[in-house]
Amino acid sequence: MMSYQKFFNPEESYSRSEIEALQLERLQATVKHCMDSPFYQERFRKAGLSPSDIRTLDDLRKIPFTTKQDLRDTYPFGMAAVPLDQCVRLHSSSGTTGNPTVILHTQKDLEEWANAVARCLWMVGCRPEDVFQNTSGYGMFTGGLGFQYGAEKVGMLTVPAAAGNTLRQLKFFTDFGTTVVHAIPSYAARIYEVMCEKGIDPRRDTRLRTLVIGAEPHSEDTRKRIENMLGVKAYNSFGMSEMCGPGVAFECPEQNGMHIWEDYYIVEIVDPDTLEPVPDGEVGELVLTTLKREAMPLLRYRTRDLTRILPGECPCGRHHIRLDRMKGRSDDMIILKGVNIFPIQIETILMQFQELASDYLITLETVDGNDAMTVDVEMKDLFIDDYSKLQALSREITRQLRDEILITPRVRLVPKNTLPKSEGKAVRVVDTRKKY
Ligand code: ADP
Ligand code: ZN
Repeated sequence: MMSYQKFFNPEESYSRSEIEALQLERLQATVKHCMDSPFYQERFRKAGLSPSDIRTLDDLRKIPFTTKQDLRDTYPFGMAAVPLDQCVRLHSSSGTTGNPTVILHTQKDLEEWANAVARCLWMVGCRPEDVFQNTSGYGMFTGGLGFQYGAEKVGMLTVPAAAGNTLRQLKFFTDFGTTVVHAIPSYAARIYEVMCEKGIDPRRDTRLRTLVIGAEPHSEDTRKRIENMLGVKAYNSFGMSEMCGPGVAFECPEQNGMHIWEDYYIVEIVDPDTLEPVPDGEVGELVLTTLKREAMPLLRYRTRDLTRILPGECPCGRHHIRLDRMKGRSDDMIILKGVNIFPIQIETILMQFQELASDYLITLETVDGNDAMTVDVEMKDLFIDDYSKLQALSREITRQLRDEILITPRVRLVPKNTLPKSEGKAVRVVDTRKKY
């Protein structure tokens, strides 16, 4: 194999002081540029702020937050900071939690985005001799075009397979010698199931080596499972439409937290209630400021994703801070009998049981006027015929779940392929409770 440089961009290896100097320079330029957006002009006027008030990185905290509601209120183009004729594309979020929002891009924005994604892929060893297959939907979902341009920038041969049609995906793996795949975690598990059905052994019959998984919360055990199934290294990838899409934060070969590219974003972690910064290393809401965006810069954008900054230096030699696995979004939180629960807590327990497959569904209902939770989870083998073993298993799962979430769910072990499958992000929670 050819020898290549370690870092895709020089900024990747900057020291803390170099990163911060660059951030300040870019923040000041961004704030100035925001004055071309009627939305931010008005925001600054109301707050009695002017761009010259931003003299240090800490001065960022003087600026009001930007929220998803602001994006909706200004839908579709009210936050643009350049005339529309300079924009070449828009993306819209998949609207998991409400109305879609629109993000505009100039040609330069798209180039920077492709660069950020390429940097991520390069970091985990993707090189021009790789064959990259993307199983994301193309179109409004940013995981399609976002990875497409990034992978091309690395110089890989790309297979824009797009979502679904798993048999065709498998044919491409074998025919084209795919080495790198991008898939959401729920789909990676699906790929393996279909391989098993068709008698395909990923280690023997494919050249798969690297998997990029992201777009939905998943536990460390889910990652390990997927790695074992497919015989790959799986790297967690974080992004969102508002911040372009993929390429915001990505795991390095250490697989211990995702480096967030601080030459593109300023990171804050705040308490979602008080909006004050949380103490170092504690979980809070991720707030991001874009540093190089032309069409739609965003200042202090409240992502609603909950995470923390991992303490310490990463042995890989990059000084860009690392984010821990996403705990979920503040609006994914289930409140049941007054207890706050994140679906990922349930997944973390379930995935420790070797007997269970990867798909599960949490149903919340009102039973006799009380909140109730049922967890349906698919079994790995078609079914265990020993009824008493099954009962013991379900009791043990219930016990561990109760210890974790402090309420006792009803656990139902169901045969494989009986829970509904979705082509995009997996639906893990169905809430049928009456809302008053
Ligand atoms: P939508 O907001 O409609 O779901 P996006 O595609 O923009 O559309 O989704 C971005 C969101 O997906 C993030 O805000 C985050 O909640 C979730 N997400 C993305 N990557 C990850 C990841 N690696 N781990 C956990 N959650 C993720
Ligand atoms: Zn690292």
